[in-house]
Amino acid sequence: MKQFNGYFFLSICLVLLLNSGKSQLPYADTIKTGKSDIIVQPVFHGALVLKVADKTIYVDPYNGIDAYEGMAIPDLILITDIHQDHLDTATLNAINSSKAKCIVPQAVADKLPAKFKSKAIILTNGKTTTEFGISIEAIPMYNLPEEANSRHTKGRGNGYLLTYAGKRIYISGDTEDIIEMRSLKNIDVAFVCMNQPFTMTIQQAASAVLEFKPKIMYPYHYRNMEGFSDVEAFKRIVEEGSKNIDVRIRNWYAEKPQAVKVMKSETISYGTFSGMALTMDIYTPDKPNGIGLIVIPGSAFGYAYSTTYNQPSMTQNFASDTEYFGKYVNQLLGRGYTAFVINHRFAPQFRYTDILGDCQRAVRFIRYHSKKYGIDPDHIGAFGYSSGATLCAMLGVTDVTNNAGNTGVDSVSSKVQSVVTLAARFELSEFNRTEDVMIQNPIISRVLLNYIGELPMVENGNYVLKGKYAEASPITYVDKGDASFLMYCSDDDPLVPHRQAVAMHRKLVNNGVDVRLNSLKKQGHNPVPDIHEMDNWFLKYLKK
Ligand code: ZN
Repeated sequence: MKQFNGYFFLSICLVLLLNSGKSQLPYADTIKTGKSDIIVQPVFHGALVLKVADKTIYVDPYNGIDAYEGMAIPDLILITDIHQDHLDTATLNAINSSKAKCIVPQAVADKLPAKFKSKAIILTNGKTTTEFGISIEAIPMYNLPEEANSRHTKGRGNGYLLTYAGKRIYISGDTEDIIEMRSLKNIDVAFVCMNQPFTMTIQQAASAVLEFKPKIMYPYHYRNMEGFSDVEAFKRIVEEGSKNIDVRIRNWYAEKPQAVKVMKSETISYGTFSGMALTMDIYTPDKPNGIGLIVIPGSAFGYAYSTTYNQPSMTQNFASDTEYFGKYVNQLLGRGYTAFVINHRFAPQFRYTDILGDCQRAVRFIRYHSKKYGIDPDHIGAFGYSSGATLCAMLGVTDVTNNAGNTGVDSVSSKVQSVVTLAARFELSEFNRTEDVMIQNPIISRVLLNYIGELPMVENGNYVLKGKYAEASPITYVDKGDASFLMYCSDDDPLVPHRQAVAMHRKLVNNGVDVRLNSLKKQGHNPVPDIHEMDNWFLKYLKK
């Protein structure tokens, strides 16, 4: 009974970890102060969220309520100007503003939705107010030369300067490189706009930033008529001029998660085991691009699930997971990929040879039946998360030999041509080291012990990559001719040491395999991939 309880407890922990999702927003930065930390969360275009003095501040909330899902409701809302990308009444009305005060210039106050009018604190250029111990000063924002018919006339809108615990945060609003910006002093964090024809060029912005020298600065509000200002070029100009300005480029224009345009979904059997069907779900987009992707969700090799195999929770979790993994699969579906979501057998009833064998069988099955599914049999991709990513990695570095005389499904290769991994383990015998304080020994060792069936070998008191553990680890097989690898990992993943991705990357590079490693900061076991990058990666390696 004791053992059962322990197992149950660990399962719950793991499910929680696997389900802790992240939105598409760039990750939030933390700025230390002598008091509580300041947190910076870029949202979209000119919209950002700050946590200052433990209060939540929405700046120019814009582009719909979805991006704010899961965030604390605002204590303060700052609005800079009357244009729709700053005063977005639809988004404002959708936000829970029950406890929010609203700081605005007069021109914005005149256009605020009714429910905000009583909460508005009107601040004119040059004036300061203090809320929750945060000093908030209105800084002018305007176009040059000053003309009555310019897009932003002086005095109408407010940039803002927030001061808390000695830290000074400047938010430019829509402006050119005005004297009021250039003469700012002791700025710790700055958000500076750069988009023509609305505000200024990257050269103007760089020149101003080099003059007022913020310690950290974010290019923001950089969407222009044709696309986006070249913020990388901006960063280069600033870095040439000063080594002391930390320019932080973030994606302020992440796509909204798309609703799945499915399209067609069916469940098929790709093989049998003891008379039981092995199944996968096939998602066909309405406009297929001819590329098939093997998709393997994270399951801790089945540890988090209750039964042995043909486990609907695996594929159902994928379909309902709008928070994390399923969301990215949906985005790939939206771009035309056909997704084959595999339901493999599970540990501890089955071991790595069976589980990997199922995945290899699935690749061979869809390759053999490629015509039926409208995909290219010579260019198949794999996309996986956590244990699923480890299995996908195995599909990219191993192949089941095409024995002469094999027929049907067994006559074709089990290897995929391109792999994208989220939080993959590449070296299974590496349970943890003493410095991995975040890794929860019991979970990791139990999961891997169940998967392999025995403990790793020990040499000189350390676990070593030999025997079955080597057989089950992707890093063992890296060789020239392997699939291209796009890897996403996080530097603080509590379940997979970051060094594993670094080691895998190095070995792939040394073998001349195309690989890109994205080491993300502080994203735990849910690194957020870039959909454009994944799409371009798969297109590069899988499109005929
Ligand atoms: Zn604007």
